[in-house]
Amino acid sequence: MSQKFDVVVIGAGPGGYVAAIKAAQLGLKTACIEKYQDKEGKLALGGTCLNVGCIPSKALLDSSWKYYEAKKSFNVHGISTGEVAIDVPTMVGRKATIVKGLTGGVASLFKANGVTSLQGHGKLLAGKKVELTKVDGTVEIIEAEHVILASGSRPIDIPPAPVDQNVIVDSTGALEFQQVPKRLGVIGAGVIGLELGSVWARLGAQVTVLEALEKFLPAADEGVAKEALKTFTNQGLDVKLGARVTGSQVNGDEVEVTYTDANGEQKITFDRLIVAVGRRPVTTDLLAADSGVTLDERGYIYVDDYCATSVPGVYAIGDVVRGLMLAHKASEEGIMVVERIKGHKAQMNYNLVPSVIYTHPEIAWVGKTEQTLKGEGVEVNVGTFPFAASGRALAANDTGGFVKIIADAKTDRVLGVHVIGPSAAELVQQGAIAMEFGSSAEDLGMMVFSHPTLSEALHEAALAVNGGAIHIQNRKKR
Ligand code: FAD
Ligand code: AMP
Repeated sequence: MSQKFDVVVIGAGPGGYVAAIKAAQLGLKTACIEKYQDKEGKLALGGTCLNVGCIPSKALLDSSWKYYEAKKSFNVHGISTGEVAIDVPTMVGRKATIVKGLTGGVASLFKANGVTSLQGHGKLLAGKKVELTKVDGTVEIIEAEHVILASGSRPIDIPPAPVDQNVIVDSTGALEFQQVPKRLGVIGAGVIGLELGSVWARLGAQVTVLEALEKFLPAADEGVAKEALKTFTNQGLDVKLGARVTGSQVNGDEVEVTYTDANGEQKITFDRLIVAVGRRPVTTDLLAADSGVTLDERGYIYVDDYCATSVPGVYAIGDVVRGLMLAHKASEEGIMVVERIKGHKAQMNYNLVPSVIYTHPEIAWVGKTEQTLKGEGVEVNVGTFPFAASGRALAANDTGGFVKIIADAKTDRVLGVHVIGPSAAELVQQGAIAMEFGSSAEDLGMMVFSHPTLSEALHEAALAVNGGAIHIQNRKKR
């Protein structure tokens, strides 16, 4: 007799595992199918995020930043060190330990919440049945009242630079270098390319980023993107815009890359090349021909605003559906779907999903950019505050960047918060909370902020919206 569950989730990334835990918490009999195996061949939960994405990249970013600071800026504090050295295998090993702890943590949470963890490949059949192909090749059919598809995404590969995970790597391979490449090329100046490029640049690699678009970080606020490009260039990152990679030739331990820019065809040689040109949804062997679930024109599973697919009782969440490819977006969609399965009126505010780039300085934003709002014909007031005027940032010797708050000129409602600077990711979350509650710039300006904190920059930017900043000269007069 086949097993029957209230909810079967396919994929245990931050979308799927969070949905599974929530479903079990709400009293639904839940199973979660995952096939990913770690290097030891063991089932590893947590998806891209925990295994080869958010967490390992942040572990390497934090390690490399400590090295960079020790080497470049400890002397400012009067600290002298002997020669500062990096042992890359130890750094990469530390990352692996963190990943192992967290993926094991998800397994423990499954146990604690009563989620049945099933190892293998899941495929949706007609009639909300799921085919589970186990590691030994045996097949089991599972019945479900509700199915949540959370199969995530994988790196896009481009014919001009085929990944061999040795000289030409994708984001996963770039987390595993055992030594610092002397000359590192990165294709794509998106979030992943900039973060991984930063890791190795801080450790001494000479990094060149080749980006096909003429515009740097087109999704970010233009003021922020401009500041970011200036800062990264000062840090030694060579960002070539309008540079489209058209070919590559691996010669032993190096690769010659061909790209075209405004001056025609160019060639450049690297010791390692990271291909970071985006990610595509994973739907391979996920849906039986008669499952009834449809894809959109870009290959994502088609869903409505509530993540319902074209088949009643079947949902899809996270990177495999439209929208930003972010772990927190995936998790919140999972929660929304499960709440709705239980009959609760949950919905997600897609306008307030924060975006973060964990470079140094960090870049983070929530809501709309000034250029988008102007394009929509919305009249706005803008307040900015530079970290160079923040006592806390000065104390920390971390004064690059600014906070920018954009408010509706008529209602004063905050429409966008953009931060480039120290702890931008944490600061922007405060903006997101304020926006969720419909805050005006004046409301934010009237709040009491602890002193001295980086958060005060947010406070001052809010005050600056209406010409009331205290610690800088106001551009706008009251
Ligand atoms: P995934 O995490 O991709 O999980 C899907 C899971 O489903 C996988 O484990 C896969 O093995 C499994 N699966 C697929 N098909 C099947 C099947 N048929 N049967 C069984 N199992 C299946 N996002 C952030 O928010 N912040 C960050 O800082 C950040 N940094 C990143 C850094 C890097 C280098 C990368 C690559 C990504 C980063 N992301 C970050 C993006 C984030 O990892 C993804 O948005 C997130 O993991 C998506 O979650 P998901 O649950 O939709 O899919
Ligand atoms: P993202 O989708 O944010 O991860 O960013 C990927 C980036 O890679 C985009 O900005 C693309 O313009 C860029 N890109 C894609 N293909 C190429 C290519 N052949 N050469 C250079 N850049 C590319």
